[in-house]
Amino acid sequence: MDLLNTLVDKGLRRELPTREEALAVLATSDDDLLDVVAAAGKVRRHWFGRRVKLNYLVNLKSGLCPEDCSYCSQRLGSSTGILKYTWLKPDEASKAAAAGLAGGAKRVCLVASGRGPTDRDVDRVAGTIKAIKDQNEGVEVCACLGLLSDGQAERLREAGADAYNHNLNTSESTYGDITTTHTYADRVDTVTKAHAAGLSACSGLIAGMGESDEDLVDVVYSLRELDPDSVPVNFLIPVEGTPLAKEWNLTPQRCLRILAMVRFVCPDVEVRIAGGREVHLRTMQPLALNLANSIFLGDYLTTEGQAGKADLEMIADAGFEVEGADQVTLPEHRAAAGSGCGSHESAGCGSHEGGGVCGTTAPATPANEARTDLVAVRRRGAGTDLAPNA
Ligand code: SF4
Repeated sequence: MDLLNTLVDKGLRRELPTREEALAVLATSDDDLLDVVAAAGKVRRHWFGRRVKLNYLVNLKSGLCPEDCSYCSQRLGSSTGILKYTWLKPDEASKAAAAGLAGGAKRVCLVASGRGPTDRDVDRVAGTIKAIKDQNEGVEVCACLGLLSDGQAERLREAGADAYNHNLNTSESTYGDITTTHTYADRVDTVTKAHAAGLSACSGLIAGMGESDEDLVDVVYSLRELDPDSVPVNFLIPVEGTPLAKEWNLTPQRCLRILAMVRFVCPDVEVRIAGGREVHLRTMQPLALNLANSIFLGDYLTTEGQAGKADLEMIADAGFEVEGADQVTLPEHRAAAGSGCGSHESAGCGSHEGGGVCGTTAPATPANEARTDLVAVRRRGAGTDLAPNA
């Protein structure tokens, strides 16, 4: 396909595809899907080889948020029965982080619900970063604390944070439909502040909130303009008790096309599959490793992921390798600035889904079927007495 040859050439040269080309990737047929994955896979391997970076989420403060992001189970008025707790102490956070690092993660993403931190919160997180860095040599730490005020990014950088995550989530034109308590411009401002303070910027999106292909292309082009080092791609988990609970819009094929489009538009950037990997890609997860070079290990902020051991087995079975602490994630031209992180919103899940019984034909999964059976609220790890999943 001429389109794919053109996109591979551009990806290898870090040249921006046209919007029409990006839209055409999203419009490809199922018959062409493996060709799309193979083409984007060439770009992925050119910049990142067969390495998969593992990141580990620690939810420092869960729920009780005054903001109204429609996709988020921690939002104002959410009736989802998530874990709710205030700031973890530095040693509690460090213990949770250590579990993820022992499981193979090289980056810890420290996330807190809320509009943004107070200066006192930033000091508190600085203490947590110190505790984690003192006990785990070489660990990368990304903070994800919401909207930043002047000086806070610099303070986090001084405290040893390597990166800051704040997602754009969706296109500027639809942002107001998703959240009313802050604006798209607020989000851009925070990513810009993080960048300016010398933190590696991490900013991504959430697909599946009812947006159009044009919206998806818009947000990915906006991200390219902001030039983050990492782009987490979340697939909406329509959690019961949130306004988007009925938005089951994604199929595994659609998720693969979205990841391929992001790879073509941001070829040399750490593309991370974030929340919704298990729920929406399901058995197609290994194929997605040809597109993304980074995933979260274990659980998400408020929902459970598949077992950390299953993540590691999947990576090995698909012929990829976990990136070591001594390996540099980003291509040389980006590495000097560090690398990016996490996800602020409630993300992902997954329990193993049942297959067909031998001798019978398993019914095909209809497109867009609600898979609430794959969504489990997190009940272990940070904020509980139970061991974390890593
Ligand atoms: S995404 Fe962040 S700011 Fe928005 S409701 Fe959830 S925790 Fe609050």
